[in-house]
Amino acid sequence: MPIVYRAANIVDAQLVLDELKAAGLSVRISGSYLSGAIGEVPPGDLVSVWVDSERQYDRARAVVKEFEASQRVNDVEKPCPQCKEMLAPQFGKCWNCGAWQTD
Ligand SMILES: [Zn+2]
Repeated sequence: MPIVYRAANIVDAQLVLDELKAAGLSVRISGSYLSGAIGEVPPGDLVSVWVDSERQYDRARAVVKEFEASQRVNDVEKPCPQCKEMLAPQFGKCWNCGAWQTD
């Protein structure tokens, strides 16, 4: 069983898993999945996503690549509407001047 994706955490792994399942692939998560719920996974404990069959590997990788590309788009920093400081999208509020980010 080949690994198609090494996730940083279980949430990340689950997102990829859902994408792969939606593409009709037979996949599973290994690693911390069985050891605890979300939030209990120690940092650095990597989670892997596997395909059940070698024949599905290329298709699975294509889905993963698409997923990674879409993630990067969401990670693009935006300038603060007030002070133009570049902000990562996970900050709802500017850390520099306190203005709320707009979409
Ligand atoms: Zn600002």
